Amino acid sequence: MKQLLFIPGPVAVAPEVLAACARPMIDHRGPEFAAILARIRAGMQPIFGTRGDVVLLGSSGTGGLEAAVSSLFSPGERVLAAPVGVFGRRLAAIARTWGLEVDEIATEAGAALDPAALAARLAADGGRDIAGILLTHNETSTGVQNDMAAIARAIGDHPAAVVVDSVSGLGASPFAMDDWRFDVVVSASQKALAAPPGVAMVAVSERGWSRLAAHPNRRFYFDLGRAREFAALGQTPWTPPVSVLYALEEAIARYAAAGPEAVFARHAGYAHAIRSAAAAIGIDVFSRPDAHSVTVVAMKAPDGVDVAAVRTALRERYAIVMGGGQAELKGKIVRMGTMGDLSPDDVLAGVDALDRELAAQMSRRYEGRARDAAARALSEAILTTA
Ligand code: PLP
Repeated sequence: MKQLLFIPGPVAVAPEVLAACARPMIDHRGPEFAAILARIRAGMQPIFGTRGDVVLLGSSGTGGLEAAVSSLFSPGERVLAAPVGVFGRRLAAIARTWGLEVDEIATEAGAALDPAALAARLAADGGRDIAGILLTHNETSTGVQNDMAAIARAIGDHPAAVVVDSVSGLGASPFAMDDWRFDVVVSASQKALAAPPGVAMVAVSERGWSRLAAHPNRRFYFDLGRAREFAALGQTPWTPPVSVLYALEEAIARYAAAGPEAVFARHAGYAHAIRSAAAAIGIDVFSRPDAHSVTVVAMKAPDGVDVAAVRTALRERYAIVMGGGQAELKGKIVRMGTMGDLSPDDVLAGVDALDRELAAQMSRRYEGRARDAAARALSEAILTTA
């Protein structure tokens, strides 16, 4: 049965995009593939906000992050990680696994990275020992989005190479990699671009490529330099996920046809509607008011609510799938994503089903307040973006 996916990836994929996967195979070293690769790379540049090179890896987002860390830094170098949740911690873990010395800036769960705290840490690095800064654009585990423009200002002219995980952020809100002087930004096909999983998109600055050339590390499959050399030939070094690339090309074409502003407004509008629904039924949002993500809303489970039971009921009664909490937030939050081929009616159905199941668990009357509040918020959002 078709499910309504509100997990923050993989997301609901539009029928035209799914249908593209069914096209016949082609030679991945032939001219048709080269043309597809060129269109995807060119289509991704404005989404990253870069005029630089974008390479595609046959992997999920984590492969792109590992490629970024291992291509830019050598074991023993010092990097500063600024995690605001599970995925930021995972990026720091990749760096440690690669043998880097990792310092961390601590941030309370639900808060965004404080640019002033980052600026202070960098100002204290008089010897310029910090070779890299590891950041998360959108932290999917807590529903927090960092203010990347403010963070870029905080980094200022510190020479560290900046790696940004924008796996669950890119495409859903404005992103200006070149203006913000980030060196490697990583995203993935199954999030805001709403294609199936299987491709990591990795944008690298000129400074990033120079750093990479100066660091001949031992790496093979996830070598960004090799990916760039082959991209110049219209190829990938290894056999690519051709079907997912067909779909990604179609998804980028749909994105461009809708226009980025409309896509940004859709994500922001849905997130606002979900937060309004939560407020209407007395549910607190986990992220701080100045830190809300537009791609995922994390809602605190009221005392006594069994999150696993709510998620099971949603799945079995309504074919609606929402996320739970990860790590220390397991059992404490419900996460509802806004990415993917979702209509306003889908969002209303999602918050309504959640309201019904929470009402049943909390022995309160279901009155449809979440749905009403979300509908009002959506109509306001449409009015303000028309
Ligand atoms: N980073 C963030 C912020 C994510 O949300 C995810 C996945 O949800 C990842 C990294 C890992 O990406 P993947 O599962 O595509 O490897």
